[in-house]
Amino acid sequence: MTETLEAPAQLKQIDHWIGGRAVAGTSGRGGAVYNPATGRQAAEVAFAAEAEVDAAVQAAKQAFVEWRTMSLAKRADLFFRIRELVNERKEEVARLLVAEHGKVLSDALGEVTRGLEVIEYCCGLPTLLKSEYSEQVSTGIDVYSIRQPLGVVAGITPFNFPAMVPMWMWAPAIACGNTFVLKPSEKDPSASIWTAELLKEAGLPDGVFNVVHGDKVAVDAVLDHPDIAAVSFVGSTPIAKYVYETATAKGKRCQALGGAKNHMIVLPDADVDMAADAAVSAAYGSAGERCMAISQVVAVGHVADELIDAIKARIPKVKVGDGLDPSSEMGPLVTKEHRDRVASYVENAPGEGAKVLVDGREGAPGEGFFLKPSLLDDVKPGMKAYEDEIFGPVLGVTRVHTYDEAVRLINENPYGNGTAIFTRDGGVARRFQFDVQAGMVGINVPIPVPVAYYSFGGWKASLFGDRHVYGPEGIEFYTRGKVVTSRWPDPSTSKVDLGFPQTR
Ligand code: NAD
Repeated sequence: MTETLEAPAQLKQIDHWIGGRAVAGTSGRGGAVYNPATGRQAAEVAFAAEAEVDAAVQAAKQAFVEWRTMSLAKRADLFFRIRELVNERKEEVARLLVAEHGKVLSDALGEVTRGLEVIEYCCGLPTLLKSEYSEQVSTGIDVYSIRQPLGVVAGITPFNFPAMVPMWMWAPAIACGNTFVLKPSEKDPSASIWTAELLKEAGLPDGVFNVVHGDKVAVDAVLDHPDIAAVSFVGSTPIAKYVYETATAKGKRCQALGGAKNHMIVLPDADVDMAADAAVSAAYGSAGERCMAISQVVAVGHVADELIDAIKARIPKVKVGDGLDPSSEMGPLVTKEHRDRVASYVENAPGEGAKVLVDGREGAPGEGFFLKPSLLDDVKPGMKAYEDEIFGPVLGVTRVHTYDEAVRLINENPYGNGTAIFTRDGGVARRFQFDVQAGMVGINVPIPVPVAYYSFGGWKASLFGDRHVYGPEGIEFYTRGKVVTSRWPDPSTSKVDLGFPQTR
């Protein structure tokens, strides 16, 4: 992907965004951005060197001085304008997502809508930043707590949600009074520049939101920078661990969300059609490139054969094609390398002892990075198809005899992002929520992404750090507490003002 910047003139150039304007890259390094539906290069993105990251941090540092003083009323007002603009123009950014990520338009719109919900939550920032007050803790003495912004904070984001995952970060970060440097995925970087332009149009002061593109060089420059107070990361587990360990060793606050292997248990009493609909939707939606995708069904007891038949019957009806074609339900994968890697799990499955029931390599559209849905049976721990996060449209089925065996599989798995159980038995479902070691649990819900006023995050190797993203934990992450103990002489400085009190 990485190459020297010698792009043909007609290719779109994607620049950084620093201090409120587009800034061309100066490092001489860049990467190709593809249209996954055609397989052709569509743009060239600049890769930042350390000096360019520093320029973005300096812009953010300068902007912080004013931004943190803006009243909550004015900041909230601005957030309402951002909300309106994103809502009006969401199809624009959704089309950018289709062009660079490959997901279908309806799914891209869904992504923007879920991100918009986080922006809406942040419109309530005056309430979110309310603190506590204790009067007369001692005679004439009061104590209160306040939450203040950290300063310049950074977000490093993955390819699979190029608009929504940055919204999880920049919206609460700037709502809390921080300024922000985003390092988006180099595979689909245009949504970040669209966001920067929109925020400027909404009236966000220059330097509050900045974008630097790039690879490890840019990430390391972010992690090393002494003026960055906190780093939010979402991506694969090895990089999440690296980012967390490096950032915290440098004294930064860090939340680093990693990969996943989400299991869906289907009990013998489940509604089989409902479970099959859910498995197909959650495994193949967005071509399986979701950290909350179901990649492993655990069929308990006699339900397995009936469930597999129901899933198999649904797979041929999934329409695979260009994301801009309204009849498409599943688009291509993000790059050729990723498509080939995902396909290798299907190719190697028989050698590992699993059965290929549906082979997605057959009949995939010729152009572009397409792979159709695949279904594997008898997938077991120890097999690569079971152990690895495939991150593509490959669903494995594991057969077990009991509920306890099924839960043990999940609890012994190194990841703990999402999980789901399908059953009609409320007692077992309740036991499952108590027993299972994962951060997000669905009961007859296959993709239990929390709504914006809860927080999103996994357990174990799916999250390094102790704060989930967005919602109340996002607000805590981007602020730090201060407690004030005060004593005042009795004031006598009031004046008459008959006007109705207003916020400014
Ligand atoms: P990735 O880890 O390859 O990249 C994520 C970010 O890290 C990108 O900005 C990338 O430029 C940067 N990066 C890549 N290699 C690096 C390196 N060696 N050193 C420093 N930085 C590096 O992830 P991806 O392929 O873009 O995204 C898919 C992964 O993200 C999957 O594992 C998926 O499960 C995970 N993900 C997790 C969540 C979650 O909430 N837990 C959400 C979305 C995606």
